[in-house]
Amino acid sequence: MKSRNTFQIKAAAFLLSAVGLLGAADANAQEVPKPPKMTPEMTEFWEPEVKVVQPGKTASDAPADALVLFDGKNLDQWVSTNDPASPAKWTVENGAFTVKKGTGNIQTKQSFEDYQLHIEWKIPAKITGKGQGRGNSGLFLASTGEGDAGYELQILDSYNNRTYANGQAGSIYKQHPPLKNAMRQPGEWNTYDIIFTAPRFKADGSLFTPARVTVLHNGVVVQNDTQLKGPTQYIGLPEYKQHGKAPIKLQDHGDPSEPISYRNIWIREL
Ligand code: MG
Repeated sequence: MKSRNTFQIKAAAFLLSAVGLLGAADANAQEVPKPPKMTPEMTEFWEPEVKVVQPGKTASDAPADALVLFDGKNLDQWVSTNDPASPAKWTVENGAFTVKKGTGNIQTKQSFEDYQLHIEWKIPAKITGKGQGRGNSGLFLASTGEGDAGYELQILDSYNNRTYANGQAGSIYKQHPPLKNAMRQPGEWNTYDIIFTAPRFKADGSLFTPARVTVLHNGVVVQNDTQLKGPTQYIGLPEYKQHGKAPIKLQDHGDPSEPISYRNIWIREL
């Protein structure tokens, strides 16, 4: 094919010059520099050098650049949502902390925007209740106000406990069901590994880009770059309202079932 193409081009050039067109074009032609020959090095980036991070011994352990939000000892990184000037009142025991029913939600002292978060949670072995009233808590990816305001990733006993799909463990509450039910049985620890991208807003307060989240539940992807419709609502449809960096919040749900526990929480801002 190559030789044939070359022949066709030469033939066309001959015909053009024969009628004087090519000659006119030659008179005006500038010397066009040839594009440089591509080499492998031309598409390599060297600077800035990627920083080293010491990873944890296992995927559950905090990498060296993580902020540890709970190391098994105290709730120093947490405050009461009802009164952020007050310490979190939940119970710390045996390297974990447990929801103290009736004391309200707790939230991080610090605010975050985009992050990677690891958290472990356990439904008590002798859980009672059913549906939404069985081990209900929740992780608010960003708390946008008091009570349950924010974006709730549901925490619930979804082991042999049917409820609405967009309200079970791993759901973005009342918006997106999890892709699978990866729940461990009561008494065993569950993990969530979360990558959250906060929503962005325009100067006039309207939405620019929605929040997005990827969630692994016990190593299984249950939310894959899911686009949130707005803050999660118990009743009604979600609607974005402008906010900036926000704390991460855990829910004291108020159902009468036995309280759930948390441990090993760390975060890396992205
Ligand atoms: Mg909940």
